[in-house]
Amino acid sequence: MPVRLFLLLICLCGALGVWARPALGQTGSPHAVPTIALSTIGDGIELINHALILRDPGAVLDLDQALTSPDWQWLGPDRRNAGITDDLFWIRFRLRNDTGTAQEVVASYDIANLTAFTAYVRVPDGSLTRTDVDPGLPYDQRAVASPLPAVSILLPAGEERDVTVAFGNAFPVPMNTDINLWSAAGFDRHTLLLTTFIVFLVGCLTTAAAFWLLYGAFMRQGRMVVYALYMTGLVAVYLSFTGVGEQILFPSTVWLRGLGFHWAMFCVGAACLEFARRHLDIARLHPGHDRFMRLGAAACLCMAVVSFPSRYPEIEAPLTFVAMTGAPLYVTWRSWIAWRRDGISYASWMVIGWGGVTASSVMGVFGSELNLPYLDLSQAEFTRLVFACTVVESLLFSASLGQWLRGQEVRRIAAEAEASRDSLTGLLNRRGFDAQVLHLKQAGLWPGRLWLALIDLDRFKEINDTYSHAAGDAVLTHFATMLRREFRANDVTVRFGGEEFILLFEAESEEAACSAVDRVRRRFAGTPTRYEGSMIGHTLSAGLVPVADGPDGDEATLIAMADAALYGAKKAGRNIVRASSELTDPEIAQRPAPGGSAELSPLIETATARQ
Ligand code: GH3
Ligand code: MG
Ligand code: MG
Repeated sequence: MPVRLFLLLICLCGALGVWARPALGQTGSPHAVPTIALSTIGDGIELINHALILRDPGAVLDLDQALTSPDWQWLGPDRRNAGITDDLFWIRFRLRNDTGTAQEVVASYDIANLTAFTAYVRVPDGSLTRTDVDPGLPYDQRAVASPLPAVSILLPAGEERDVTVAFGNAFPVPMNTDINLWSAAGFDRHTLLLTTFIVFLVGCLTTAAAFWLLYGAFMRQGRMVVYALYMTGLVAVYLSFTGVGEQILFPSTVWLRGLGFHWAMFCVGAACLEFARRHLDIARLHPGHDRFMRLGAAACLCMAVVSFPSRYPEIEAPLTFVAMTGAPLYVTWRSWIAWRRDGISYASWMVIGWGGVTASSVMGVFGSELNLPYLDLSQAEFTRLVFACTVVESLLFSASLGQWLRGQEVRRIAAEAEASRDSLTGLLNRRGFDAQVLHLKQAGLWPGRLWLALIDLDRFKEINDTYSHAAGDAVLTHFATMLRREFRANDVTVRFGGEEFILLFEAESEEAACSAVDRVRRRFAGTPTRYEGSMIGHTLSAGLVPVADGPDGDEATLIAMADAALYGAKKAGRNIVRASSELTDPEIAQRPAPGGSAELSPLIETATARQ
């Protein structure tokens, strides 16, 4: 049901786009051409309320027809955004230089995506100069070297010029019809500022995209690669839209302009859906929506292919409305569900991010159309707002990816810790022991003054047989708790197997090491385990060996040496701690090889050699 609701909303977006095309036809009575006195304008001024506008659907008028048309209207705030894709607009105003010195005035438009920009300047004696700004011409070959369409008008002191500008809108939404007037120096400053702003934003996006692309490729994370593609698509749209890409960064790619930019927008729509689908784990949580999102992304990709180069602007334009507003709107909603209902905390970043994308897209596409009095922004200002929002969004999505990565890392560390612990006693298991040994070696603490004790509970089988296996477990946990209490946190306490334990700790001398382990032995013997009303008495035996005595890099041998000492303790009657140095030759000789393997013989020799 919600999917259907969204389909309906998306259709409405499309319908609004279609409606936006013909809804702006306006007629009115001719007015006298308004005059702008140069002394009244500053460095840059928009021509709102200072000019006339004539719409030319289908671009059928020539200059004479346009000038004699009865349909000229004041270019007031209510008409500043009146425009239609591929239509021509005429704007008319008169400039009077009342400053006393000759002035050069630049008339410019802030969006590069025009199909035409032609200025006709008529001097009082009737002669006419025509200046065409060819959108396909590299900027340094234009009359005014700028990526933005601009013409220069020379005004001698005390003279007037009638200026008529025709421009065609290549963008699929209505455009503002403002033109700015600047002094030559003011225009240079403006161009520099605008270009710096765009290059800065594009730089931010490109850096984020490159980072996630490389990271995603190395970590084999599709979501990051798709995210990087999304950012790259945005960069392509921005560069094309502002002219900065073709004109300044990549002057040799002016031919790209001919390809239109709807395809880039559709690519952005596809990447938006695909990134959200992967990042929100939609396939696992909502298979129905997964299919829907795949379908949406595939449709966007198909449209991208069809629109490259732009062949059917009539269809592409309204569908671009859908892709630009529908995809982020839908994804905002899914992010909300993922966050609130599915408990995916990093989706909260996406709600803000995609919410911002949706709001700025809607404003960018419909804002000028709505002409909200409290949002009196021109199309160029809307565009800059959308660009700036997108950079903020990119940071939010990066934060979301970062939080996801941190979650993965925390889970991995927890799983690793879990895998290296014994579930009954909470002590390290063999795997944990190996990791700790490696850690000590890497930290340069191995062998140092380390001692290894192998502890075996005495006659444990009898405890199991007498009291039950559960009682045996209770003894094991009781012993583990005692070990933790007796030894420092950075000593290594390990349940090595059934009722065998390893201690790895620092001691100054053999005496100190023996007394530490013997303290455990005495305490274990003195504190029977209370289990279901019974008091289970128990003892332990231990074999002790200085780590420095073991062969380098061979812990198995070291343990076998401790095992030999432990065997000596058992032989001597149990409830004893034995250091390997105390072993007598007969004790060593009597130690049977575990499992009948011949492994122990060299150890026994090692222990003997120490005697
Ligand atoms: P010794 O003094 O010679 O060491 O005699 P022992 O009975 O302690 O040695 P033995 O190796 O014969 O028996 C060890 C017993 O430990 C056998 C096994 O059932 C028991 N065991 C091993 N793991 C566990 C466990 O996790 N819980 C319990 N309750 N018993 C265990
Ligand atoms: Mg044993
Ligand atoms: Mg035992």
